[in-house]
Amino acid sequence: MTASRRQRTADARADVLADLERILEEGGAAVDHRVVANVACGEQTLPVHVVCLGNRDPAVPAVGLFAGVHGLERIGTHVVVAFLRSVIRRLRWDDTLQRQLEALRLVFMPLVNPGGAMRGTRANPNGVDLMRNAPLDADGHVPWLVGGQRISAGLPGYRGPAGAPLEAESRALCEVVETELLPRPFALALDCHSGFGMIDRIWFPYAHTRRPIRHLAEVHALTGIFERSHAHHRYVIEPQSRNYLAHGDLWDWLYRRAAAREAVFLPLTLEMGSWSWVRKNPRQLLRRDGLFNPLVEHRVQRVLRRHVTWLDFLVRAAASHARWSPRDAARERETTHALQRWYGR
Ligand SMILES: [Zn+2]
Repeated sequence: MTASRRQRTADARADVLADLERILEEGGAAVDHRVVANVACGEQTLPVHVVCLGNRDPAVPAVGLFAGVHGLERIGTHVVVAFLRSVIRRLRWDDTLQRQLEALRLVFMPLVNPGGAMRGTRANPNGVDLMRNAPLDADGHVPWLVGGQRISAGLPGYRGPAGAPLEAESRALCEVVETELLPRPFALALDCHSGFGMIDRIWFPYAHTRRPIRHLAEVHALTGIFERSHAHHRYVIEPQSRNYLAHGDLWDWLYRRAAAREAVFLPLTLEMGSWSWVRKNPRQLLRRDGLFNPLVEHRVQRVLRRHVTWLDFLVRAAASHARWSPRDAARERETTHALQRWYGR
C-alpha cells in the first residue's frame, strides 16, 4: 500500500466517529444523548454513543437502529448516521415527523465497535467478534471460523473465553436494548452489516438454530406489508439460519429474553451485498475494507439512498403496529404461510 493510500484508509476510519459526533452536536438538546461505554483502543479511549428521540413512555413502540458491530463494515454506520442526520434536520420543520415522535421512541447506536472501526477490523480491540460473544451455542454444524470459535483471538469469529463476561461493547448493546426496547409492548431493531454475497438481505432470528421463532407470524405480516407497498424492492427477507448457523449471536440472545416476557421484539439484520461493489470496481479487492465498503463516492450515495426507504418503512411499521399485527385466526394463517415460505413445511 502506498503512503497516500494508507493515509486515505486511516482518514476513512477516523471519519466514521467524527461524522457521528458532528451530527450529535447538531442535534444538541433536541436529542437524548449518552455515552454507554468507553473502549480502550491502543493509546486512545473511544466512546460508544447512543442517541434517542421521541416519546420516553414505555407504552409506545420503538425502533432501534444499530451499526458498526463489525468495525470494518463502515457502510452500515454511514447508513444509520445518514438517517439520523435526516431526522435531526427534519425536526425543525416536519410536522409529520413531530407527530410520529409523539407516539414512538427512536434509538440510534450507529457505532457499536469504535475500536474495530478505528483499527479496520471486524473484531473489537480484544480480538472478539461481538456477534459471536453471547453465551448461546448453535444446535447444529457451524461453518469453520465464521460460525464462531474459542481457539484464538488471532482467528476470525473469536467468541472470547468460555464463561467470561460479555465484552464492554456487547454489554453496552444489551443494556441499550434492555432499557430502551424490551420494556415496550412492540419494538423493532435493525443491525446494519455488509460483506455477505451479491444481494441485500434482511435476516431475522434465529442464527443458532433452524427452529422458527415464536413471532414468525409477526415477521411474515411485516414482510407482507413491505412487499405489498414496495413492489420493486430488492431485498431477500429470510431467517439467518437459511444461510448458516452461528454461535453467540447477540440478537438471538436478546430475542429469547424478550420472548420470555411476552413482548414483541423483532431484531432484524441488514446484510448489504458488498460483492456487487467489488464486481463494478475490481480494484476494491486490493484493499481489505474494499470487500466490505463501497469505495467510490457515487456508489456510497446510492447505497445510502437505497436503504433510507427500508429504515423509513420500519419506523412507520412500528408506529402503526396495531393496524397490521395479526391476531387469532390471522396469526395462524401468517404462521402457516411463513412455515411454507421459509422452512419448507
Ligand atoms: Zn457484519
